[in-house]
Parts: sequence; C-alpha cells; structure tokens
Amino acid sequence: MLSQAFQQRNTVERRALKDLCTMRVGGEANVITMHERDDLQIIHEDNFKMLGKGANLLIGDGPFDEYIVKLGEDFAQLQIETLPGQKARVCVGAAFDLATLIGKCVKAGLAGPEGLAGVPATVGGALYMNAGTRTCWMFDWVSRVEVLLPSEQKPRWLMRDEVPAVYRSCGLPPGTIFLQCEMELASGDPETLRQQASQLKQAKAASQPLAARSAGCIFKNPSKTLAAGKVVDDLGLKDTGIGAARVSEIHGNFIVNDGEASVADICALIQRIRKTAWQEREVVLDLEVQTWHCPAELHQHPKDIA
Ligand SMILES: Cc1cc2nc3c(=O)[nH]c(=O)nc-3n(C[C@H](O)[C@H](O)[C@H](O)COP(=O)(O)OP(=O)(O)OC[C@H]3O[C@@H](n4cnc5c(N)ncnc54)[C@H](O)[C@@H]3O)c2cc1C
Repeated sequence: MLSQAFQQRNTVERRALKDLCTMRVGGEANVITMHERDDLQIIHEDNFKMLGKGANLLIGDGPFDEYIVKLGEDFAQLQIETLPGQKARVCVGAAFDLATLIGKCVKAGLAGPEGLAGVPATVGGALYMNAGTRTCWMFDWVSRVEVLLPSEQKPRWLMRDEVPAVYRSCGLPPGTIFLQCEMELASGDPETLRQQASQLKQAKAASQPLAARSAGCIFKNPSKTLAAGKVVDDLGLKDTGIGAARVSEIHGNFIVNDGEASVADICALIQRIRKTAWQEREVVLDLEVQTWHCPAELHQHPKDIA
C-alpha cells in the first residue's frame, strides 16, 4: 500500500496498458510515474515491473497486481561535458527519450548513438534490451550504468565490463532497474552524423511497418547469418493472420495489430509461426518481445509443442 505522501510526490493512476505501449494491447494496472529518486526503495520492496516507451512489449489482458513503474523527472536529465582529446562525456537518465538523445548528440557533433536512429525507446528500455541495429548496440558507447539490482538495497554504478550485455539483452538479472548511464563519445561532423541518422531512418521506414501498431521484432534472429524475418518470409507466412493480428507484409518479423487484436490472437499467431519454423525448417525462434501475463504456452519451446 503506497502512502499518501508517496502518492503526492509521484503520480499513481489506474491506466489501460494498451494506451502505453506500441502494440496497443494490455489490460489495466496501477501505473506509477516515479518522479522522486528517494522513493525508489519503496517500489523496489514491492512487486513491480518497469515500463519505458512500451515499444517491445506484449501485455496480457490483466488486470495486474504489480505496480507498473515509469521513471519521471529525477531520471530525465542530460549532461554533456567536454573532455580533452575531442571527446565528451554524456550522462543521461533512463527516462530520457532515445530519439531526443540522438538528436542532441548529432547537434553537438558527438558520434555513435546516431547508429540507433529510428529505434523507439527510452534510454532505460534501450539499456535493458541492449537495443541495436545492424551496425551497433546500445552498450557500444556506454562506459558505466547506474542500476538498482534486485538483490541489493541501494543503487550503484557498474562499469561497462561488469555488464554481460549480449544481442538484445543487458544480461543483468530480471528486476534490475536502470537509472542512468554515462557514455564517452568521440567528435564527429554534425552534418555527416545528421545524414547518417536520416539514412538509417529512411531505410527503416522502407523495410519496417512503422505506421502500424507493433512491438518491433517478435523473434530474435536465430543466428548472425539467419534473420528471423527471412525465415518467416521463406515459410510464406507474411500477410497471414489470426483475427486482427497479422504478420506484416513489409517485414516478416513484425506482427501488426490491424484493429482490436486480442493478446490471444497475437500469441496464437506467434505460436503458429514458431511451430511451422520448427516443423518445416527445424529452426527455433526465440522471443525478442518481452511478455507480461501472456498465455503460458508462449513460454514453451517449439520442440516441445511440435
Ligand atoms: C517500429 C519499431 C521498430 C523497432 N526497431 C528496433 C530496432 O531496430 N532495434 C531494436 O533493438 N529494437 C527495436 N524495436 C524494439 C524497441 O524499440 C526496443 O526494444 C527498445 O529498447 C524498447 O525500449 P522501451 O523504452 O520502449 O522499453 P519497453 O518496451 O517499455 O520495455 C522493454 C523491456 O525493458 C524493461 N525496461 C524498460 N525501462 C527499464 C528501466 N529503466 N530499467 C530496467 N528495465 C527497463 C521493461 O521492463 C521491459 O522488460 C522496435 C520497436 C518498434 C515498435
């Protein structure tokens, strides 16, 4: 039970989670927008889930018992400090919007983050997922991160080599809260960086259904040389669907919500794809999308359901 003082310092609302994520499915929950850093401890002791921009989430019908926590004011700072040797140290809060961060870095002539142009995320969500593109990952420029680990009472800084980040995962235990990160960035020509960011966004717009309701890529790529979208495409599953859930005709690794798709429709479609990939190609498709309270069979390995 949250005290009245806590509720005055932070925003606590009953919200439909479908309004807070890009796939536009998800039931009601108590959503806390945590403005006060000192209040972190209170939610940390309770049952909670962190929510960023909701761009990689598939959420069940609820209602939910946990608190859903979005980081607010105390976690939305950006500081850029010039260092010797044409470098800069960028310190950015986990609530900061990734696209805004990229824009600020490009304008300041700081190279690196423009490689993530077009990835919808908060900094915290991008760190947790180790968001990436063909050329780079979020953790490529991070020198240290401030986290609250699930087993610890107080936030602390972890150096980059203490974070076992891999493809689409920070590698830290579930329940880790990212609070902020520091990056060391080298100088670059702002106009060149702007053009690179713009090209990446254009390439994304041409190859992904950006205007549709989706949660980004549903599956991790099975290997560096085999893209999940290609597997789905080769199986002839593009543009197939269940209810209002449909595999995008533009990108086989995107499922789009054509209207009022239910989470059951989306999960059934995911399982159909995984089962077909396993039965016809012996390819295991693991989930990239994060799932909250979705049907249990989603967590079964395709081999076990074939
Ligand atoms: C159109 C589209 C295109 C996309 N393209 C790409 C792409 O090219 N590359 C790519 O990697 N991804 C892509 N994605 C997926 C998504 O953008 C990334 O996974 C992104 O990192 C999600 O960030 P978020 O803030 O929305 O996190 P959410 O979706 O809100 O959360 C994702 C996970 O991070 C956790 N989380 C969020 N904030 C924190 C925090 N502060 N501390 C700890 N955990 C936290 C959540 O609990 C959840 O488990 C795309 C998505 C869409 C919709």
